[in-house]
Amino acid sequence: MRRATDWLQSRARLTPHKLALVEVETGLRLTYEQFNVRAGRLAGYLQQHGVVRGDRVALLAPNSTSYLELLFACAKIGALFVPLNYRFSTPELAYVLNDCAPKVLVYFEPYANLAHDLAARVPVPLLLEQQGYERIVSCADGAAAIPVEVELEDPWAIIYTGGTTGQAKGVVLSHRAILWNSINTVLSWGLTEQDVTPVYMPMFHTGGLNALTTPVLYAGGTVVVGRDLTPAAVLEVLERERCTIALFVPTVYHSLVTSPEFTAAQFTTMHTFLSGAAPCPLSIYEAFWAKGLAFKEGYGLTEAGPNNFYIHPERAKQKIGSVGVPMFHNQIRIVDEQGLDVGTDVTGEVWIQGPHVFTGYWNKPESTAETLVDGWLRTGDLARRDADGCHFIVGRKKDMIITGGENVYPLEVEHILEQHPAVSEVAVVGLPDTKWGEAVTAVLVLRPGVSVSPEQLKEYCTDKLAGYKIPKQFLFVRDLPKTSVGKIDKKSIVHLSTHNET
Ligand code: ATP
Repeated sequence: MRRATDWLQSRARLTPHKLALVEVETGLRLTYEQFNVRAGRLAGYLQQHGVVRGDRVALLAPNSTSYLELLFACAKIGALFVPLNYRFSTPELAYVLNDCAPKVLVYFEPYANLAHDLAARVPVPLLLEQQGYERIVSCADGAAAIPVEVELEDPWAIIYTGGTTGQAKGVVLSHRAILWNSINTVLSWGLTEQDVTPVYMPMFHTGGLNALTTPVLYAGGTVVVGRDLTPAAVLEVLERERCTIALFVPTVYHSLVTSPEFTAAQFTTMHTFLSGAAPCPLSIYEAFWAKGLAFKEGYGLTEAGPNNFYIHPERAKQKIGSVGVPMFHNQIRIVDEQGLDVGTDVTGEVWIQGPHVFTGYWNKPESTAETLVDGWLRTGDLARRDADGCHFIVGRKKDMIITGGENVYPLEVEHILEQHPAVSEVAVVGLPDTKWGEAVTAVLVLRPGVSVSPEQLKEYCTDKLAGYKIPKQFLFVRDLPKTSVGKIDKKSIVHLSTHNET
């Protein structure tokens, strides 16, 4: 198969009256037929305005069905969908626009001013504001798109990664990659037409766009798009919309499980809670298990799907913290510095090969050549595999601390400190140190109303960690800085701590 299938069109043919999309904020509800018609009208409009195969169409909007309507409109005409991270600063966004040079910028409130600022810095041939967009999707006599031949290897989207480790890079995902992430996820996680997933993760990020959203649509289920992350609002939507499977980042889970509403919540329709994008503290697993709910962790990255593993909920209880076994059409290697496979329980870098892997970085051939080598995606993440084939993510290679010549994986130290009753959140980083090279440093947020001294924390660690892994310093802060998707931002922590500003 070389040609890409317009799979929204296929869905609209197979299950036209099935509910596809719900927008919590506006109450909009669209069947697959309506969704396909709206995407078709947008495709016709874009084509009429000169957008051709290979052109980029950028979107600056809060979570809304527009992400999915534009994604599939682009698919119909071979254009590339570029969702913009509205939490980037104006210069960061201007960098992204310069990099991808879109033919069209679609913008929604509350980002009209930002869009005008950007357009003044980076010329974009066509600007489309929210009202214009809404007129197009609801206009019955708009121009229909002329069918375009789109190939599986054609790029379909560019997602700019958060820049946790440097300047944002545009990850190019082909039709092949997005399709196979969906096939892999539907097969391996057993998604069906009955599934309903809420999407609260930002949809400019792979977690909001591709972790559950496109796979659930591929399966013919329902996607409920929301913005208000207050625990009461989220829990109400899960119940009202009869959601079955949800993905949140650990920081969101943290606020959910510590809210008073969580204790009373029934979760009558939910079968799986998934955590992803960053390491998940054990206390969150335990809060869900205590309510008899399935909770597990996934590992992924924008460049690979993002989904890569599957773990059965019962196994997740026995293998705490494991992300499980590779998904159906996916190969995972764990390798040492020489690129040789390591043995059982040995930590090495994760390499991935499969049809869901990205094409390359937009305009960055050198970064692509460093990351995609001989058909393997070198993730820069560390993991180990146990004797049963279950994988455990150990952390990012870049975050590994070398102290007095010994390697320390921050996650191992974080997992120990997280279990101390006084600790609410913790990040372990390596700070420059004349004696040790890097000093293991714990930056902690304490639970309200409790106190603990560095000496007590050191004492607590002594029988749990080897001496060189025990933090040399404990810094107490009110909040940990977070990235635009809510991951703990270690780069800022190191920067702030080095400049004594924490
Ligand atoms: P960068 O800017 O360096 O590309 P990013 O965080 O912006 O990073 P994403 O694609 O959003 O890029 O996130 C992928 C990364 O998130 C993975 O490479 C891994 O480091 C981390 N990650 C994802 N899932 C997990 C998990 N379950 N446990 C630990 N880390 C995880």
